Amino acid sequence: MIPFIDLQAQQAVIKDKITQGINKVLSHGQYILGPEVAELEQQLADYCQVKHAISCASGTDALVLALYAQQVKPGDVIITTPFSFIATAEAIALVGAIPLFCDVNPMDFNLDETLLEPLISDFYGNQTQLPRLLQQQLSVNSRIAGVIPVDLFGLPCNYQQINQIAKQYDLIVIADAAQSFGSSINNQKVGAFADITTTSFFPAKPLGCYGDGGAVFTNHDELATIAHSIRVHGQGVTPYEHTHIGINSRLDTLQAAILLAKLSIFEQELQQRQTIAAHYQQAFQKIGLTTQIINTSPTILKQSAWAQFTVQANNNNHRSAICSALKAQQIPYNIYYPIPLHLQPAFQYLGYQPGAMPVAEQLCHTLFSIPMHPYLGKTTINKVIKVIASTNDNYK
Ligand SMILES: *Cc1c(COP(=O)(O)O)cnc(C)c1O
Repeated sequence: MIPFIDLQAQQAVIKDKITQGINKVLSHGQYILGPEVAELEQQLADYCQVKHAISCASGTDALVLALYAQQVKPGDVIITTPFSFIATAEAIALVGAIPLFCDVNPMDFNLDETLLEPLISDFYGNQTQLPRLLQQQLSVNSRIAGVIPVDLFGLPCNYQQINQIAKQYDLIVIADAAQSFGSSINNQKVGAFADITTTSFFPAKPLGCYGDGGAVFTNHDELATIAHSIRVHGQGVTPYEHTHIGINSRLDTLQAAILLAKLSIFEQELQQRQTIAAHYQQAFQKIGLTTQIINTSPTILKQSAWAQFTVQANNNNHRSAICSALKAQQIPYNIYYPIPLHLQPAFQYLGYQPGAMPVAEQLCHTLFSIPMHPYLGKTTINKVIKVIASTNDNYK
């Protein structure tokens, strides 16, 4: 059976390092915030060339930490993409804020920053783009406090443009880089493109541990201090003094030890992902199938972390045919995402209707993701391509 993500092959490469790291933790016994956590945070910060990296218990908690650190308050409105994992919008709702969805770009599937200004103007004007139920949750003082763009499938958003708009309207920017740790724009790694960047170390992410984990990155000293405090119950400078209402969200020392081992081969793994992605890209271009476009501007050079390799079928029936063909050949695939966030039952209270986010909805009907990991062999890659190509002629 072909694995969708081959963590076993990766483990074989770093088995000794992982065992040594775990044994070291078992012998010193500092399971919470042990020395490996600080060491990892330093290495993560160096890797992203950002001043502060603060680890925590998950990518979802990283978003909550970032929202708290930025003092987002109940009733604040936060703009985000409807085409992401639930955690992005969930974190907004968890801190009592209101998600306001902004549709994505059909080329790279990330938040379409050209829609931001019209959406903001509409919010402070006639509110024709807001569902009635969402409108009813606003007060006269309601304001858009920030925006959370998501680097979908590993591809960084257009941060330069997003930051420009954010500055103009006094919005905080939180980059959800759960899928894009290791990616870059003009050779600069994600981590410092927004006020705060969050990531996840869930096992299937580009840099994953053997459990849950996450981190926030920032160049702002004050935000780092608050994030440090909030992840340990809002702890102050002296023990059992608490300056903020916080949460309990620390990265286990054991997971930090595992991540240190994985980080040592991460850059090489990214290159392997890049080679595989290039092979896929070329093959799908040849048979006329669209894939996520990585570079939509000639002056900005982006590199994806390739959390997923995602292909667009010609239509929904075509996707069903491809999925059946892959299944018949025992090739794993995933559909990210079958339901856009604005139409999730959990967000029914906002009142969004089908048709509200046409691009995201279309992508939910046509995209599928195929095996992608650094240890994917040529034979498997070619088999995946061949099976998909065999369905293509019937669905032009
Ligand atoms: C995985 C993911 C998260 C949440 O990370 P967890 O570590 O699973 O909590 C948040 N946002 C996006 C875009 C993700 O893909």
